[in-house]
Formats: sequence, structure tokens, C-alpha cells
Amino acid sequence: MNSQPRRPPAKWDRKADIVVIGSGATGLPAAIVAREAGCSVILVEAEKDIGGHAIISGGNIPLGGGTSVQQKYGIEDSPDLLFRDLTDWSVVGPNGFPDYRYNDREIVRAFADNSAATFEWLLAHGVVFVDKAPDALGGNSVGNSVPREMHAAVMHWPMPHTGEPAEPAVQRTRSSGNGLMRSLEIAARKAGVEILLEHRMTQIYRQDPHPGPVLGIAVDHKGEELSFRAHKAVIVGTGGSTGNVGFRRMFDPRLTEEYCGLAGMPWSDQDASGELAAMVIGASLWGFYNQIGEFGSNVTKPGSIGCQYNYRHLQWMPGSPVFDRARATGLRVADWQDVILVNMLGRRFYDETGGQYIANNYNSLDPYVQGSWRNAANLKWNPNNFLNAALAGIDDGHNGGGPIWAIFDSDAVTRENWTPAPPSVDIAGGFFFSANRLADLAEKIVIRYQRVAMPPQNLEETVARYNYFVESGIDQDFGKPKPLYKIAKPPFYAAWATPVVHDTRVGLRINAKCQVIDMKGEVIPGLYCGGESAGGFSQHGLARATCQGYIAGNAAAGVTVPSKIRGEAR
Ligand SMILES: Cc1cc2nc3c(=O)[nH]c(=O)nc-3n(C[C@H](O)[C@H](O)[C@H](O)COP(=O)(O)OP(=O)(O)OC[C@H]3O[C@@H](n4cnc5c(N)ncnc54)[C@H](O)[C@@H]3O)c2cc1C
Repeated sequence: MNSQPRRPPAKWDRKADIVVIGSGATGLPAAIVAREAGCSVILVEAEKDIGGHAIISGGNIPLGGGTSVQQKYGIEDSPDLLFRDLTDWSVVGPNGFPDYRYNDREIVRAFADNSAATFEWLLAHGVVFVDKAPDALGGNSVGNSVPREMHAAVMHWPMPHTGEPAEPAVQRTRSSGNGLMRSLEIAARKAGVEILLEHRMTQIYRQDPHPGPVLGIAVDHKGEELSFRAHKAVIVGTGGSTGNVGFRRMFDPRLTEEYCGLAGMPWSDQDASGELAAMVIGASLWGFYNQIGEFGSNVTKPGSIGCQYNYRHLQWMPGSPVFDRARATGLRVADWQDVILVNMLGRRFYDETGGQYIANNYNSLDPYVQGSWRNAANLKWNPNNFLNAALAGIDDGHNGGGPIWAIFDSDAVTRENWTPAPPSVDIAGGFFFSANRLADLAEKIVIRYQRVAMPPQNLEETVARYNYFVESGIDQDFGKPKPLYKIAKPPFYAAWATPVVHDTRVGLRINAKCQVIDMKGEVIPGLYCGGESAGGFSQHGLARATCQGYIAGNAAAGVTVPSKIRGEAR
């Protein structure tokens, strides 16, 4: 990625009306919409397969505002209700953080006005949804007034995380991004979108001198640099920035390199390439609070231990086409009573059963009155600080909490029915260790993220103290609800249990048409963005990405979509 603008090439390798970057939840809808509006479209995708994080997602999609399914089930929703929900200043979580207060009104208005249309468009383009009323399952910052969560069916295609199709009995009843993205891939190919895999955008070209329009992009294709001219527009759908350590630390200095288990990797990264390329030609970032606010899943507690990629809603299986990079399935933790969690120094830091941040959703507040001061006043204060304690560090002057290790014994292995061997755990990568003595276990822990050796006596003392808490029934240090199991029977184990980075909620500044805006508040002509690479909108993933893809594709092709706010230069 170049940090300085480069002159556009004298000769282009390929030309199209519109070039879309990324084949995820933003890119595929944008490409299809633009192609069906009559534009020639090239879509470049860095990876070997389409789909981005969307294809491995849970497929829970909160598109509302009056969809046909909401109407079918008698749920009264409207663009206005949706807009007011997603900009409601009065909604706060039990830890006091507001979900919606810092949302950009223009961007949310455009979403509210096009949310139902996007859902109907998905249906018309072959996406099958689980046949049931919208609910609140998997919801994450989707508004409190009515249920809006719908679920894309997994369907019959092999699932990226297993390499196998889902059982026939559940193909239309299980929610997954697999069915969403394979359906859209088929629609895109049928429409005539040219999809180029293993083509990584490295540069966006803008006419020199500024403020000229965007002209096209440079891509890296297996080491060869190519240039693609976009006569009308370039659409950025690159999926966010949380995989880029330098970039994410602009918002949270604690998120140092040990947070290496990005949810969604190794299928695709969120390397900030779209943001950086747009910033080089003048784009502004937007909505920083949404990245650091303590709600949702920007940072999460792991669901598995003993492997690098340990997001709670995704487990890589040996049949997956990317298992060579995932390397282990991890051990799913059914009960956090079965382990203690220690930092680099072998010290506990919090109640292991503690949770991650939560997000507002339908029924999170009861009673709920839109915009009422009572919403916050009625709430029971309940800070949720597991993650903050894990990220606090060891008082050595460094940022970052360092690796977190789950320590357990062979009785825990039996209780959890774990197999503490490859491919369940990643021993070769340094994410799992075992020993017959706790002191030996501490000495064995070597991985580049463990920047200080774990003192063996610390681990022995920590386990001895915890075992005493089990005997007495009271965790005097962290108030774990009645510690249940001693760690006493060898062999002993240390499994990687470091928090996971996930959503990006900060990104390029866009307007209601998804046009990218520069630092002076002016439109960068010919540049559009949506999804996790766009800022200003605090919501977990698929709905805002698909909707902004729909808006961007239309706007780039010159088709007007409804919005009470027109996205023009300001
Ligand atoms: C395990 C998991 C479960 C999830 N479950 C849900 C859920 O149930 N509901 C929900 O709403 N959200 C969910 N999400 C989040 C949701 O998947 C994302 O928010 C959404 O996919 C974002 O869409 P996007 O288009 O911005 O990025 P993506 O869908 O990730 O697509 C970005 C694409 O751009 C490509 N790319 C990146 N850089 C370049 C480049 N330089 N050149 C070319 N291509 C590039 C990437 O390879 C990728 O294919 C989940 C995410 C994960 C990881």
C-alpha cells in the first residue's frame, strides 16, 4: 500500500464503468445493482474465494423499516421508527455506554429509507430466508422498538468453516451467511459482473491535481501490478480495519499485536487497505466513538481456547479450505468454571465467567419509550469489565494486556470432553502447552506475544490460592460465583484464551449516497464506500453492509434511491 498518491498510468490494463473492491456483504450487492443498471462492472477480490466475513457470518440480518416479512407477521415498522431507534440518544447499556448517540444522522437516515428495499432486493436475487417471524436472535445495535432480525438460510453449498454442506434437514432453517453470499455470487455472475479473485487493490488513482475525480485502481495479482480504469466510479467494500494493528491502535492503544485472532480470519482479513488507499487521495475518517464505545463485538471474549482464531461463533474444522491457515479447531468452552484465566505473569485478573460487552436490541430495555430520559434512569448499573481487565496489562509500561492463558487440569478435560491434541489445539504455533507440573507448564509458555516469561512460582501460587477458594466456596479476589473445581490432577494445560478483535465501526466518511467525503467536507467524485470500511454508523455488520452496497451501487450507476436526506457535498 502506497502512502503517497501516485500518478495514474498512461495506459490501463482493463476498463469498466464501475470497479468494486471486495466481494463481501457490501461489494456483491453494489456490483449486481450497478450491472443491472446497465454499467459494466469489474469486482476485484483479494482472496481465493468470494464472500469476505459475510460468507462465514451467522447470516442474522436486521433489515427493517417495514419489510414484507414484518408485514406478514403483523409487525408495524417504518423508516421513521427505524431512524429514530438508531439515533436514540437515550439508550445506554448497563455499563453506561450509548449505542446510537454518535451515529451520523444522514447515514442512518439513508439506511432507514432503504432498509426494506434492500431486503426485498435480496429476496429477488435468490437469497432464501428462514421462514419465520423476525426476532431478536443475533441482534446487535438494531433498535429497540420492534423485532427486525431475519436469518439467511445456510442452503446446500459447502460451508467455508467445514468444507461440507449443512445437513439437508437444516439447510432452510439454520441461519448462515453461506446461503446469502453464494446466492449473491450466482446473481452477480448471471448479471455479468466480472469477478476477479486473487486481485488485491493496492492503490486508488485520482486525477491529478486534486480535486479531480477518481479514475481507477491498481491491483496486485500474484505479484503482478495491473491497473483498472473505472469510467464512472470505484466502490470500496473492503470490510474494515480491525486486522491492521497500527490502524486499530489509533482508536484503542491497548489493541497491540497479540490480538491476532481476528474473527473471520483466515478466510479474509480486515487490513484497512480500503481506508488507507482512500485517505491517500484525501478521504476523511468518521465516527471514532463507535469504535471505542464499549458495546457490541468490536472486541470479544473468545469462545474457544488453544488456537489462534477463537471467535465464539466460528470454529474452523479440518475440512475447511483454509484449515491449513487456521491450524486448529480450538477447544470450545462450555463452562468457564472449568478453567482459570491468567495473564502473562500467571495471575488471575477477573471472574472467568464474566461476559463481554453487550449491545442494544429489541427488548433490551423494558419499558422502552423512544427518546425518553427514563430509558437510562430505569437501567440497573452493571459494569461489564472482563475485557477491560484482560486488556489492562501487567503494569510494565507497555500497552496491551498480553496473552491470556486458560489453565486447567485433566479433570477439566474429562468434564468438557476435550481432546487436548492436534487438530483440536495448535501446539506447533505456540497456542497450547501441557506439563505434569505447574512450574514446568509456566516455563514452557513461549510465543512471541509473551513478552515476559511467566514466573513458575506465580502460577503455582495462583492455582494454590484458587484451589483454596474452591474449598471455601468464595473467590476472595474476583467474586467468581462459587468456584467449583480444583486444578489438581496432572497433566496441566495452558491454552491461548486472548480476547478477539472483530467489528470495525469506524471508517471512511460517507454521505447518504455512500459517496466518500474529504477532509473539507466535499465529495470525492467517483468514490463510494459501504459496510465496515465506512464510518458513522454503529451496528454489527450485514444489514448496514448490504444496504450501503445497494445504495452505493445505485448511486454510482446514477440511479436515485429514496432518502429524506440527499447526499450532496457539504
Ligand atoms: C464469524 C462472523 C459472524 C458474523 N455474524 C454476523 C451476523 O450474524 N449478523 C451480522 O449482521 N453480521 C455478522 N458478522 C459481521 C458481518 O459479516 C460483516 O459486518 C460484514 O460481512 C461486513 O461486510 P463488508 O462488505 O464490509 O466486509 P466483508 O463481508 O468482510 O467483505 C470484504 C471483502 O473485501 C475483500 N478485500 C479486503 N481488502 C481488499 C483489497 N485490498 N482488494 C480486494 N479485496 C479486498 C476481503 O477479502 C473481503 O472478501 C459476522 C462476522 C463474522 C466474522
